[in-house]
Amino acid sequence: MSITVVGSIAFDSVTTPFGERDRMLGGAATHFALAASMFETVHLVGPVGDDFGERELSTLRTRGSNIDDVERISGGKTFFWKGHYHDDLNIRDTLDTQLNVFEHFHPKLSEASRNSEVLFLANIQPGLQLQVREQCEGARFVALDSMNLWIDIARDELVEIIKRVDCLILNDEELRQLTGKPNLVSAAREILGWGPSVIVAKQGEYGAALITSDHFFSLPAYPLEQVVDPTGAGDTFAGGFVGMIATQLGDGNGQALSTNVLSNAMAYGTAAASFNVERFGTEGLEAVDGAAVRKRVGDLWRLTRFEPLDVDLIS
Ligand code: AMP
Repeated sequence: MSITVVGSIAFDSVTTPFGERDRMLGGAATHFALAASMFETVHLVGPVGDDFGERELSTLRTRGSNIDDVERISGGKTFFWKGHYHDDLNIRDTLDTQLNVFEHFHPKLSEASRNSEVLFLANIQPGLQLQVREQCEGARFVALDSMNLWIDIARDELVEIIKRVDCLILNDEELRQLTGKPNLVSAAREILGWGPSVIVAKQGEYGAALITSDHFFSLPAYPLEQVVDPTGAGDTFAGGFVGMIATQLGDGNGQALSTNVLSNAMAYGTAAASFNVERFGTEGLEAVDGAAVRKRVGDLWRLTRFEPLDVDLIS
């Protein structure tokens, strides 16, 4: 089942306590595609500028991803983002965001991209996500990511698009910011009332939690000795999560996914993200192999299961 993704395709300049990189390939759609392409064929949608080279295009094509709808805008500049991570890698400052070619982009999807049964609206202006959603009427599972910037400056459009997806994947604190609810479960409950049937809260180094109307599931991040660059971890998680679901989508729609498929999607997303953060930019996911991802999924299962023991407690 193929997967269409729209979202930023970017050049990122990143500083972390372990080094820095200037104008490396990044972007939400890029990181997503590198992970989701381990599961199914990915169709990437988005504009790039004259500064985007053959080397970057070739990385986007990793594992057969289709880039027919990656449009080169002549005279334009590729989306640019600059970020700085603190010693506590959970804290990141955005130093610059330049939408560039995304500012006036009106996506026109090819038939192949429109016909994907799975759609991921990666982080970009909510208005653009809406334009793509409207062209993929037949999609059976639609997931969406966003960020605090769009909650601040385009909340109404963001709520509009959230109402039209099956699954919302957002940082824990952004779920609270979006709903004004102080607690994760109550924030998720509120959004479940808007339309989505699955909410995923990304919690950085602490993992991720999944909430549906009748289920809660949570996994820690994969325990690593060293994290070098967390940029794109959320999008890589989403690529593993949505990619796994795409392999399991039966004849029903997103509402019908079993809790075990959702838990496995969480594990594949978590395992994929762990390879992303071990190296800078796209390096980790370009090099990863399927067997290594499956091994980490097995490790996560062993790490998190336990047999409850009955003990006599003093009342
Ligand atoms: P993550 O670390 O998963 O939050 O994603 C980081 C990626 O998001 C980087 O590669 C950036 O290029 C991209 N990004 C940062 N800000 C934005 C934005 N406002 N809209 C879309 N993509 C963004």
